[in-house]
Amino acid sequence: MNSTVIVVGSGPTGLLLAGDLATAGVPVTLVEKRPHEISNLSRAFVLHARTLEQLDARALADGLEALGQRLDKLRLFGHLTIDLDDLPSRFNHLLVLPQYEVEKALERRAVEAGVDFRYETEVTGLSQDGNGVTVEVRGADGSAESLRAEYVVGADGMRSAVRDAIGLPFPGHSVIRSVVLADVRLAEQPETLLTVNAVGDAFAFIAPFGDGYHRVIAWNRARDVPDSEPLDLDEIKEVTRLALGRDFGMHDARWMSRFHSDERQAPAYRVGRVFLAGDAAHVHTPAGGQGMNTGLQDAANLSWKLAQVTGGHAGPELLDTYQVERHPIGRSVLRSSGGIVRLAMAKRPWELALRATVTTVLDHVTPARRRMLGRLTGIGYTYAAPRGSHPLTGTRVPDVALADGGRLYEALRGGRFVLITPEGYDDRGAHKGRLTVERWASGRRTTVLVRPDGYVGWAAEGATPRQIEAALTAHVG
Ligand SMILES: Cc1cc2nc3c(=O)[nH]c(=O)nc-3n(C[C@H](O)[C@H](O)[C@H](O)COP(=O)(O)OP(=O)(O)OC[C@H]3O[C@@H](n4cnc5c(N)ncnc54)[C@H](O)[C@@H]3O)c2cc1C
Repeated sequence: MNSTVIVVGSGPTGLLLAGDLATAGVPVTLVEKRPHEISNLSRAFVLHARTLEQLDARALADGLEALGQRLDKLRLFGHLTIDLDDLPSRFNHLLVLPQYEVEKALERRAVEAGVDFRYETEVTGLSQDGNGVTVEVRGADGSAESLRAEYVVGADGMRSAVRDAIGLPFPGHSVIRSVVLADVRLAEQPETLLTVNAVGDAFAFIAPFGDGYHRVIAWNRARDVPDSEPLDLDEIKEVTRLALGRDFGMHDARWMSRFHSDERQAPAYRVGRVFLAGDAAHVHTPAGGQGMNTGLQDAANLSWKLAQVTGGHAGPELLDTYQVERHPIGRSVLRSSGGIVRLAMAKRPWELALRATVTTVLDHVTPARRRMLGRLTGIGYTYAAPRGSHPLTGTRVPDVALADGGRLYEALRGGRFVLITPEGYDDRGAHKGRLTVERWASGRRTTVLVRPDGYVGWAAEGATPRQIEAALTAHVG
């Protein structure tokens, strides 16, 4: 074996996953077809609360928060304003930050953890047997080579070669076509951090990167041309004026692009020893800023499971839970991001009536608003729990205070399970390096075993040491 796991693709998904595995001591090779450079032409630019919590569990959130701009309110469908203040998270806001800053931070961490990076190396095919996977790669000079690993993760984006190699389709369709994007400087600053509106066939969105440039996304539904159609700033200005009333004197575009957006999801996230994560597994419209965030959550869900199984601490059936937990969430994200686009661009009378109803419900019905925000920010998702388990099983654990003065997401750093008990527990070093034992600061009576990805793996009221020991053996191994 060259390494235990090969991760294909050094986008945000692959970088987080490879960094986690190396931190857990799993030998990992990251194969990337591009040369070693992180483009400053960012696609994603929003980090949601659950992603920030995952980054906090890797000691990266504070550094990224210092680079980005917080958004405390969301404006939807023209006039609906949603306050993020009461989001039950340490990160009760959106962070506007270019994708390349996230990639830089994740890459630094992966390098420090000892990931073996192979740039300018393109995966061209793979085959698997009962013991491992052979990955065929081609170097920049055209030389071919075979790499071998126990497991492979395809985090190689929408046109995933790994997905093709394992014979999975990518069913779905194009939702929006001929959307235009520009990163520009503005002569006049908008009044709000995020500016968004739709008028008739025109939609425009402007957000600052914090480095003097703004991202403009504009769409004129009446102009349906192929992605290859030449694009100039005047076209983007014109759609922006239609949707927002003015173009803010945009100039000096450092990047312009015309793109279409698909809604697609692989029917399975795993075939044998090969997994798919991020855009390789699901793609959707940029509405709601979900793509990178969902990919990072996929990576956080899969990495600790691969570490457990390759380390011999859990059986391979643990890996089946990746599909069970993440596939329904991918489907839900597809629906919600498509729904936002359809409602934002409502035109027919019944669409406008539906939008008015949704807006009213979100404005006045607190549980509906909470549910929508839970999905958008990722903090509302819960994983399915085995029948008969404690109601907390599978739920996200918030950043609770611990008796030693620390916080849960600090205790999660290092990729360990965290056992939080009312009175403490001595595991006599049985799970050294893989378990941190803490006590509640609040005097709660529940004992909770938190998985490395911040979800409850097991919980019990008034647990005895024997019950705790059995749970640790079952989950931590
Ligand atoms: C305009 C726009 C705006 C967006 N805004 C947001 C947003 O605000 N929030 C958000 O969360 N998401 C957003 N997204 C989506 C987001 O950019 C993607 O979901 C994210 O980049 C996916 O990350 P990934 O790591 O899964 O894949 P990618 O970033 O696509 O990375 C895949 C990597 O694999 C490499 N690769 C591909 N094939 C091979 C091969 N055969 N061999 C080796 N390497 C290979 C590629 O070179 C690439 O580096 C937006 C997208 C667009 C287009």
